[in-house]
Amino acid sequence: MTGAVPETLPEWLTAARRITVLTGAGISTESGIPDYRGPNGVWTRDPDAEKLVTLGYYLADPEIRRRSWLLRRAMQDADPQPNAGHRALVDLERQGRLRALVTQNIDGLHQAAGSSGELVHEIHGTVHEVVCTDCGDRTTIREALDRVAAGEPDPECRVCGGILKTATVYFGQMLEERVVEACTAAAADCDVFLAVGTSLQVWPAAGLADIAVGSGARLVVVNAEPTPYDWTADLVVREPIGTSLPRLVAAD
Ligand code: NAD
Ligand code: ZN
Repeated sequence: MTGAVPETLPEWLTAARRITVLTGAGISTESGIPDYRGPNGVWTRDPDAEKLVTLGYYLADPEIRRRSWLLRRAMQDADPQPNAGHRALVDLERQGRLRALVTQNIDGLHQAAGSSGELVHEIHGTVHEVVCTDCGDRTTIREALDRVAAGEPDPECRVCGGILKTATVYFGQMLEERVVEACTAAAADCDVFLAVGTSLQVWPAAGLADIAVGSGARLVVVNAEPTPYDWTADLVVREPIGTSLPRLVAAD
């Protein structure tokens, strides 16, 4: 089935007690954070923007780093807040039906909405921390952005002088093995795998859907545009996440 949220939800969904959710940038667009590949996505409008999150370009080019810090600053100034989609997943947890919440997002909005830290796996890291690419020293985004505001366009590590970047996973970077293991386990051990607001084009996150289906879970895709997994999904919903997700996870 493709399209609207069904009037009557299927029994396998309302009865599901171990739901693993995978979220992508689409769940945060209604909070004012653009996605990458949607119609108003950052890359759709400016294909060059991919360089800002590609490790090789970032390390090699101070101009890319300056642009990147300015973008982070603009996002912090915008002060995005969680929306109804994030809150629906908090409800799912309160119902005791959330096995895990794997997110490709780096914005921290699931935790801001009230999802428990133990259940949230940030597979692509977080924008709220900053790490030195040489010595690994960690600081907060606030500290780094205060330095940018004070006139350092590309602040360097205070410990070793190395290049700083947000603690997010860039293209060309490895994912943290510990996090991948937890996500894989959650995908293999659920009765429903719910993919929300993700184009399911980034690996290994998208591969979690394969693991879930291969382990016998039902697959639900909630995304405005088609994904490569729609054909194998038990339910595909194209309505906006902020209105569809609360109805999909409503308690029976
Ligand atoms: P993506 O940009 O590839 O896909 C987002 C999908 O969400 C699109 O297919 C779009 O049609 C859909 N969508 C957008 N708003 C929607 C809405 N309101 N209702 C229904 N569908 C909606 O995103 P991705 O798959 O997460 O991959 C992009 C990568 O970029 C991820 O690794 C992520 O870490 C990163 N990213 C994160 C953020 C964030 O933290 N908020 C923002 C941009 C990109
Ligand atoms: Zn350092």
